[in-house]
Amino acid sequence: TVITRFAPSPTGFLHIGGARTALFSFVYAKRHGGKFLLRIEDTDRERSTQEAVDAIFEGMKWLGLNSDFDEIYQTKRFDRYAEVVQQMLAAGTAYHCYASKEELDQMRAEQQARKEKPRYDGRWRPEAGKVLPTPPEGVKPVVRFKNPVDGQVVLKDLIKGDIVFDNKELDDLIIARGDGVPTYNFCVVVDDYDMGITHVIRGDDHVNNTPRQINILQALGATLPAYAHVSMILGADGAKLSKRHGALGVMEYRAMGFMPDALLNYLIRLGWSHGDQELFTREEMFAKFDFDHVSASPARFDMEKAYWVNHQYLKSIDPAIVAPEFDWHLRRIGADPAKGPDLKAVIEQQRERCRTLVEMAEKSKFLFEDLEAYNEKDAAKHFTADAAVLLEELAANLSALPEWTAPALHEAVNGFAEGKGLGLGKIAQPIRVAVVGMAISPPIDQTLFLLGRERTLARLAAAVA
Ligand code: GLU
Repeated sequence: TVITRFAPSPTGFLHIGGARTALFSFVYAKRHGGKFLLRIEDTDRERSTQEAVDAIFEGMKWLGLNSDFDEIYQTKRFDRYAEVVQQMLAAGTAYHCYASKEELDQMRAEQQARKEKPRYDGRWRPEAGKVLPTPPEGVKPVVRFKNPVDGQVVLKDLIKGDIVFDNKELDDLIIARGDGVPTYNFCVVVDDYDMGITHVIRGDDHVNNTPRQINILQALGATLPAYAHVSMILGADGAKLSKRHGALGVMEYRAMGFMPDALLNYLIRLGWSHGDQELFTREEMFAKFDFDHVSASPARFDMEKAYWVNHQYLKSIDPAIVAPEFDWHLRRIGADPAKGPDLKAVIEQQRERCRTLVEMAEKSKFLFEDLEAYNEKDAAKHFTADAAVLLEELAANLSALPEWTAPALHEAVNGFAEGKGLGLGKIAQPIRVAVVGMAISPPIDQTLFLLGRERTLARLAAAVA
């Protein structure tokens, strides 16, 4: 079975690039009936923070990219890494190196003076027939991997094609430091091995780590996973993605009014295509995603398109799915969802006009709070003496309506305006100010319908009092 992983280092929030990598891994596993795991790569204790760990879990949860396994932290696996180091020492695929920092600095300086690429010269590397120096007293050695010196590593990348590395270009990597702490590349290898990862899907900034990781995996006798290195995301202008382009944390997209599946839909199209289809449900992603159609060149982030996708999603999805997220946005701006109509009905009425849930919450806020003040300008303009008379008469008509539905309200208000020989605006605008507090709202029949009979009549009465 396919097992994929997302392995973030908890040094910051879950940003949009990481989320896309996670999504590719997640979707690939689902596509093949496999499993997905989330692994926190917190070996670098200096740079890892609990806040970042929390932010990653929060972002993954909101996106619905759930792990099929319990939480995994590298810092809880140090015993296991130490065990593998011992095995490799015993097997002769790793060795102790006692070279001090000063010695290595000098070695590199000499190499540079000779115009050579600085690299570990193998002074402590055991070879048949070679006599090693005597280990110095009191020095805790590092452990180095005995990388093959001949031959090549061919990385068969599912996105980039074959990439060939010469073993002689690869150093004998340190796998454990003098204090016994395992190094990053080594932990990744042991984890991928132990966890049975079949597909390593990650950012292409890791391409150069891969041949070393492959060699260590081979030394462990592991079956190699497949690799897919995902290109980075650029800003719309082709520059490295920065905050200004939308390189924000996933939860900031929530705050901007995106639905999680709409954001996923936008992200999956960053680098992957399926004909010219733009909109994908989660199930369609699971059914169609493949690496053959993931581009090897960088994708460009386009905020306008992200909004467009979100809007299409809001317009087409069952309002019941949007309701909990809409609830969150209403509370966020101080409205009380319990005070208003059913959220599904509000979503249905508003979604044509709203690209985001932030807009929708702003435009619907009046339904969920007591009307405390009128917009001064709007009130001055529309609350004329004539309007007061009209509103009073209309209120009487409305209170007599047998049914409080949008079509019935439409009839009543339009019929009233016609009967008075007035344009609809002459009556609709004062109604808006009276029931919403300002002269902007959804169509008047929908506004009154959503507000409900009781509150509409109370607000009309208050306006003319
Ligand atoms: N921890 C690495 C990162 O956050 C990812 C390593 C991997 O996926 O192999 O960039």
